[in-house]
Amino acid sequence: KGIKMSHVFPRNNLGPAPVAVAGDGCYLIDSDGRRFFDGSGGAAISSLGHSNAKVASAVKDQVARLAFAHTSFFTSEPSEELAELLVKNAPGDLDRVYFVSGGSEAIEAAMKLARQYYVELGQLKRSNFIARRQSYHGNTLGALAAGGNRLRREQFFPLLFDVTHIAPCYEYAERSDDESLYDYGQRVAQELEDEIVRLGPDTVIAFIAEPVVGSTMGAVPAVEGYFKRIREICDTYGVLLILDEVMCGMGRTGHLFACEEDKIVPDIVCMAKGLGAGYQPIGAMICSSGIYKVIETGSGFFQHGHSYLGHPVAVAAALAVVQELFSKDLIDRSKLMGEKLQKALLEKLGQHPHVGDIRGRGLFRGIELVYDRNEKTPFAPELMIASKIKAAAFDAGLLCYPMSGTRDGKKGDHILLAPPFILLDKHIDEIVSKLSAAIDVAIS
Ligand code: PLP
Repeated sequence: KGIKMSHVFPRNNLGPAPVAVAGDGCYLIDSDGRRFFDGSGGAAISSLGHSNAKVASAVKDQVARLAFAHTSFFTSEPSEELAELLVKNAPGDLDRVYFVSGGSEAIEAAMKLARQYYVELGQLKRSNFIARRQSYHGNTLGALAAGGNRLRREQFFPLLFDVTHIAPCYEYAERSDDESLYDYGQRVAQELEDEIVRLGPDTVIAFIAEPVVGSTMGAVPAVEGYFKRIREICDTYGVLLILDEVMCGMGRTGHLFACEEDKIVPDIVCMAKGLGAGYQPIGAMICSSGIYKVIETGSGFFQHGHSYLGHPVAVAAALAVVQELFSKDLIDRSKLMGEKLQKALLEKLGQHPHVGDIRGRGLFRGIELVYDRNEKTPFAPELMIASKIKAAAFDAGLLCYPMSGTRDGKKGDHILLAPPFILLDKHIDEIVSKLSAAIDVAIS
């Protein structure tokens, strides 16, 4: 039940949405008192659950002390403190943090910074970005151009600038039987070098990728060696590596930065969702000291900005979020509980005739649904399996994030799980039992 005479522009036309009125740990509560277990953290956002007292009081304190100070005049205490904390824990020489208000803004800033870096170096011919099919980098026009999510791009295609898309690293569906995991990874990484050479190495600015692909494919990490080869290729041609950790970063995969597991360091990394954990809208881009130095000693000014850059209340919330991650060991907890969740999913669904793959890292898990398990054949898109699972799970009091188009933007279905890091063992049972019942309702 929801509000029938609404003037709110809704997210979809599936009928009036229930009204969320409260959050309690891992649960959201609607105006009828129904409780929903947040098995996807919205869209991998609410990593601390919905009623963290420390973050709530950091927000209240900051808004009472200093609500806003424009970044063209001032920096702020929480921005300085959070930037220091992030850089101290970031890999390699990632050194300067640019705070924005969400993931798409972080990607836009990264793309513009990468272009300006080469302008400052006098390499004006560099104007191309390369990204991957079956990826998502945000809904603003630059980020949408970079992304390879067919469904989200389709109707805006004429407005999007050209970005070439190479293969994702998606071994479940695209590795051939006679190929080792490693060889497969090297083969698809080679597409980057081929594309750089095709475009002309002196025309390419950057390669953009999600270390663990989120909404478009459902928690798909790359195979061993893939990102090492990608890093080598970028270094060979002076192409910047931009990693999009908007969804998979900030502890979600069991590391503060997802790329730590792939043992590579990007030139620029973007984050958002788990940074504010839903308590405030915030995103960030961190660039290497080398990139920053070129701007600092060049024009001295990144030609970019928004009114709400580094908003003190948003940054204060994010500072409290990251402090909670460390003080409560929640990043290790994400890894541990993620492994338990994987085990429980495998036990319940590992032999299910329509579950093809269960994958992911930490508390970032994907379940790919198939019509035929042996042949890995997807369901016909008209069956709308993903939407049916979402509806059935919602009715059962479970929020999860199913999507269609897993294989190629049209075919394929998966369910993304990204529960709060504070979940308990009993919550794993709740997720798995409600989800498997929802799958059976949707497929029956
Ligand atoms: N990049 C990735 C990997 C995402 O998953 C998303 C959002 O889902 C974005 C970028 C865009 O972030 P936002 O929705 O905060 O603009």
